[in-house]
Amino acid sequence: MTRSITLLGATGSIGASTLDLVRRNPDDWQVEALTANCSAKELAALAREFGAKLAVVGDESCLAELREALSGSGIEAAGGADALCEAARRPVDMTVAAIVGCAGLAPTMAAVERGGTIALANKEALVSAGSVMTLAVAKHGATLLPTDSEHNAIFQCLAGGKIEDVARITLTASGGPFRTWERSAIEAATPEQAVAHPNWSMGAKISVDSATMMNKGLEYIEAHHLFPVGLDRLKIVVHPQSVIHSMVEYRDRSTLAQLGPSDMRVPIASCLAWPARMETPLEPLDLARIGELTFQAPDEELFPATRIAREAIEAGGAAPAILNAANEIAVEAFLAGHIGFSRITAVAEETLARYDAPPPDNLENILAVDSEARKRAREALETAPLV
Ligand code: NDP
Repeated sequence: MTRSITLLGATGSIGASTLDLVRRNPDDWQVEALTANCSAKELAALAREFGAKLAVVGDESCLAELREALSGSGIEAAGGADALCEAARRPVDMTVAAIVGCAGLAPTMAAVERGGTIALANKEALVSAGSVMTLAVAKHGATLLPTDSEHNAIFQCLAGGKIEDVARITLTASGGPFRTWERSAIEAATPEQAVAHPNWSMGAKISVDSATMMNKGLEYIEAHHLFPVGLDRLKIVVHPQSVIHSMVEYRDRSTLAQLGPSDMRVPIASCLAWPARMETPLEPLDLARIGELTFQAPDEELFPATRIAREAIEAGGAAPAILNAANEIAVEAFLAGHIGFSRITAVAEETLARYDAPPPDNLENILAVDSEARKRAREALETAPLV
């Protein structure tokens, strides 16, 4: 049976993995809308290839380029933040939320408020919105399918289990490219080194988050909202091989783990086919070749991001949204060569310490907190040392 799909963030890394699966199963999918920020030519080419009905650029100044690239195709073109939300509001069987950063929050909420089924890769949206999103999911009868590999693994390990029987959820972390580096080398790390992840091929922002371990911090917050077992039952373990994607331990001390290749097409396929299964083009896992699976505790002295994220979710209220916004600004500054690697988490922590806001209880308030936190983070960047 053909199902309709909208892909928010079609030109990114998750977008490419999703479209690879759609391309291999053309009879299964009818593409409704594809979106990007400003990669207009790339988006137009994808819209043409997949026969999308609508293509949207978030940055309105790129709309003219998109229109030109789509001319003669009959594909509708639109631009701007509201157009992203309108695209997300169109009725479809599946929405893949793969915009990077809090920019994806409003469109994801639009899909939630439509009561849709959403494969959520855009962790920053859930980190910033927290219970505002989970309450909206419940209110509108939406379905959130966790697409982040760890959360997808937990989701799979919970199938058939009861959340009240869970003793512990363990998120695995690769440790990133600097796991074995000395502090001085980490401090001097360049953007090129930070985005060169040993196991996963991902967009620049999440690759840097992986190197600082903020990715795991954000995932810890994400897991807290998706799987409400309590923060004391949520743990992180470093597992450099990225073969086990996360684990659920039940109260009888049975631990279920999900294993698989480090390729996002596995969790994406699990969401696209849910509750059934579909094939992926990946090689079977060869455990004898992998040889050993190792584990170690996270080093929060060297990589303080998981501690900062834990403190933010313990503080609750606006803190996770502030943390996320400040981290986005700091990562952007690092990628642009304006600050050193170690300043990224420092800026996030300083912004959290200097800015407090009442708990946001709706989308508008979250976006206001996000915007103010970005301003404060930029101020922290201007007034503090570069490294
Ligand atoms: P990429 O940077 O590769 O792609 C981001 C996508 O979002 C692009 O389509 C980009 O469009 C679009 N975009 C960027 N900024 C905006 C904006 N302001 N408004 C509208 N659209 C925008 O990111 P990834 O695919 O790596 O990550 C996407 C999300 O998935 C992130 O939240 C990430 O944390 C999460 N995730 C990613 C994984 C991965 O393996 N990549 C794994 C697990 C989670 P344009 O091309 O025009 O810039």
